[in-house]
Amino acid sequence: MAKKYSSKINKIRTFALSLIFIGMFIMYGGVFFRGNAIIMTTFMLLGFLAIIASVVIYFWIGMLSTKAVQVTCPSCEKTTKILGRVDMCMHCNEPLTLDKSLEGKEFDESYNQKKKLTTD
Ligand SMILES: [Zn+2]
Repeated sequence: MAKKYSSKINKIRTFALSLIFIGMFIMYGGVFFRGNAIIMTTFMLLGFLAIIASVVIYFWIGMLSTKAVQVTCPSCEKTTKILGRVDMCMHCNEPLTLDKSLEGKEFDESYNQKKKLTTD
C-alpha cells in the first residue's frame, strides 16, 4: 500500500487552489513585460483565465458536494463525503465504499471507471 490516495473532493480543491496561485504567478510575470503591451496583456489574460477556471472548479466542487453521499467514517468517526463508488475519508484517508461487493477488497480507484461501463 505504497500508493497515496486522497479524497477526490480534497484533490480537486487542491487543484483549484494551485490554479489561483498559477494565475497570480502568470499575471505577476506580465509585469516584467511592461514594455510590450501585447505580451503583458497576454500574460494578464492567461492569469485571469486561470483564476476564472479555478472559480469555476470551486463552483463545480460545490455542485459535486451536494451530490456526494455523506457518511460517518468508521475509522475517525467524522462526517465525510463519498464521490463515486470508492473514495477516501477526507480526514484520515480511510478507504470507503458504497458498494457492498467491494467491501474488504483492496482500495483501487479504477473501480470508479469500471462503473461507467455497466449500464442498468
Ligand atoms: Zn476518517
